[in-house]
Amino acid sequence: MRFKSLKGIQDILPPETYIWQHLEHTSRKVFEKYGYKEIRLPIIESSDVFTRSIGETTDIVEKEMYTFPDKGNRSITLRPEGTAPFVRAFVQHHLYNEPSPQKYYYMGPMFRYERPQAYRYRQFYQIGTEALGTEDPKLDIEVISMLANILKKIGLKKFTTEITSIGCKECRPHYKTALKKALKNKLNDFCEDCNRRYEFNPLRLLDCKVPSCVKARTVAPAIIDFLCAQCTHHFETIKHNLELLNISYVVNPNLVRGLDYYTRTAFEVTSEALGSQKAVAAGGRYDRLVKDFGGPPTPGIGFAIGIERIIPLIKKSIVHDVYPDLFICSLGREASDRGFIMTEQLRNRGLWVEMNYDELSLRSQMRKADRIKAKNVIVLGEDELKKGKILIKDMQNKKETEVALETEEILKAVSNKK
Ligand code: ATP
Ligand code: MG
Repeated sequence: MRFKSLKGIQDILPPETYIWQHLEHTSRKVFEKYGYKEIRLPIIESSDVFTRSIGETTDIVEKEMYTFPDKGNRSITLRPEGTAPFVRAFVQHHLYNEPSPQKYYYMGPMFRYERPQAYRYRQFYQIGTEALGTEDPKLDIEVISMLANILKKIGLKKFTTEITSIGCKECRPHYKTALKKALKNKLNDFCEDCNRRYEFNPLRLLDCKVPSCVKARTVAPAIIDFLCAQCTHHFETIKHNLELLNISYVVNPNLVRGLDYYTRTAFEVTSEALGSQKAVAAGGRYDRLVKDFGGPPTPGIGFAIGIERIIPLIKKSIVHDVYPDLFICSLGREASDRGFIMTEQLRNRGLWVEMNYDELSLRSQMRKADRIKAKNVIVLGEDELKKGKILIKDMQNKKETEVALETEEILKAVSNKK
């Protein structure tokens, strides 16, 4: 029987995995400098962790969740995003008692039942952060600046940071009223979903990707024209400081994030090189979420980077040229056994050593050493065993060095050239 991976779910193979490692490693290093600590969260959660927080009428909850009953008939969901599980853990473990701001990062797979297409998968990976404990715009600036830093350090050359403010519980209701008024006579031009959302969640109409809806909503007022004094001040401070920090951004008043829990700052990083799935990272402020989860009121802000959307953009600039230090060719049983012991000993001493376990002709072994680009090769046969000496061949300059057939001697000779 032949099996294939599920639709929209992919295997990540080497050498691409090296690019993933580079991305993860570089992000970790930046997170450390900003004081963010790693948190590892479960992949499955009780479904209501998501339905209550992300919002019942959002795309994620309405259409995209992998939800199923477990054997005890509990409703389980494969996490579609990281913030809701994070806040669940933040409240469960009283992390709000840690010194403020509390700063965390995570990496791992997310699951959304979406229509698979380029850069849109059903299992995809995010690197995300969450910072909590203050409403001060400095935290927003730190998070946006850290994101730009990570993207630059991992080698992303061209990207746009789009920011906006979507107001707070004081000013957003006024905007909702104005929005509903402006779109009231246009509802025929919107899709069925939007017509439904008009009543419960009119902001969602700004996020719909159906082309006719995109066109119909051009008459919608912009939320930044409706911000209250505090939200305006918050937003202006962020913009001003991003300029001081030389972080380029554009204000995109049409940016509405696909989750209900956001307040004030929302942002997205886009790359035109990706075509229609152009968001490589996105985030926003969520000042009410911790309280909604039963914790003390604790404002917060976070973002998530979509790894699959970054990989194709940096692929060409990352070269992974790490090759074996030594390939041991062996001829005959005794040489093979001796070579194997040496292989293990040298690996334990820090060298990358390869040898062939099946018996192969010398020619085939040499061909293999060549194929895997081994830097040095030795040929261990009866003669070498008898004489107790061996030639180490440097595959680049073809020079040969004779050393005693001892693990320590070979280690010294190969390490000297490293
Ligand atoms: P989109 O508008 O592309 O659907 P989103 O608003 O649903 O994105 P978020 O929930 O903000 O995305 O997730 C943050 C990031 O995760 C996105 O900017 C994107 O890079 C990535 N992402 C989201 N969904 C997918 C997916 N199905 N496949 C691959 N990456 C994804
Ligand atoms: Mg989406």
